[in-house]
Amino acid sequence: MQKNIHLKKEKILTGDRATGPLHLGHLVGSLQQRVLLQEQYDQTVLVADLQGLTDNGHNPQKVSSNILNVVADYLAVGINPSKTTICLQSAIPALSELTMYYSNLVSISRLERNPTVKNEIKSKEFGRSIPAGFLTYPISQAADITAFKATLVPVGEDQLPMLEQTNEIVRRFNHIAQREVLVECKALLSKVSRLPSADGKSKMSKSMGNTIMLGSSAKDISRSVKSMYTDPNHLCVNDSGQVEGNIVFTYLDAFHPDAEYVQSLKEHYQRGGLGDGTTKKILEECLQEMLRPIRERREHYLSDKAELIAILKLGTDKARDESEAVLEDVKRAFGLNFF
Ligand code: ATP
Ligand code: MG
Repeated sequence: MQKNIHLKKEKILTGDRATGPLHLGHLVGSLQQRVLLQEQYDQTVLVADLQGLTDNGHNPQKVSSNILNVVADYLAVGINPSKTTICLQSAIPALSELTMYYSNLVSISRLERNPTVKNEIKSKEFGRSIPAGFLTYPISQAADITAFKATLVPVGEDQLPMLEQTNEIVRRFNHIAQREVLVECKALLSKVSRLPSADGKSKMSKSMGNTIMLGSSAKDISRSVKSMYTDPNHLCVNDSGQVEGNIVFTYLDAFHPDAEYVQSLKEHYQRGGLGDGTTKKILEECLQEMLRPIRERREHYLSDKAELIAILKLGTDKARDESEAVLEDVKRAFGLNFF
């Protein structure tokens, strides 16, 4: 007789700061993966508004006004709320409570050594006024991941130190609890885990103002591609050009659907005879075609804010219940489950 085997799906937690509309870096860094992963996994996607506040405490409106933008971006690329739980960080109290418990397991010097936090502190020019919330945001990220017992976390390269720090907290906690209350997680990196900005100088980031957004107008896309960094020594069309570090080719690799064609373009460029104007035109066509339907769907979703809020609330209610259960376990492990 055949048994009815009910396999529990592996859990995924991922998310984005609500610091601006999502961009091409998100698309290749994690959104495309999420659309595929939702078919096989139990996926929760967090709109990280609290984490957005850690460097925007002086301007909370920047964060609150971007929450629905991020939700619209999710829906526009194909994240399906009936398959993926989309939820809002600030409306899930267990996440803040877990952060408080875990804060006692991490030293300030360990936080200061976190390479991503270190780089971000430098680029944000906080000087001696680093917000305490910013320094400790890796702890809050550990709370987000563990609150859903996530074992897989699709992220960009910049987030790897956060996952390392999360797993350290998990091991420390379980050691103290003398049992496996929390579970360790693994990063899931995409093919393009760090998309550079058009000028090639840094990672494409909302906070750097160097993005091509999923909702960018056709005109803005065109302007960004035209300004793209290529090979500064490729002065005449017939000169042989360099493909490495040439952002137009980095983007063609990331977004053009025909890899063989891109390879032939690279060979032609290296041989000489292919101008930057032509490669930029090919890239622009590819991006315009890819982003047009996303932009249209995004606008459609944003035209009904009440519906977006309803979707976010439904996911948040589910996530709240799930995270409460983990919080109870954590409190029990600390002997704090009196009521
Ligand atoms: P901010 O500047 O506010 O930090 P951001 O553009 O860096 O915003 P996040 O919300 O911090 O975006 O990142 C959300 C997810 O997207 C993370 O997993 C991050 O690694 C990934 N990601 C962000 N930028 C890129 C990029 N340029 N390439 C690949 N992945 C990226
Ligand atoms: Mg970031």
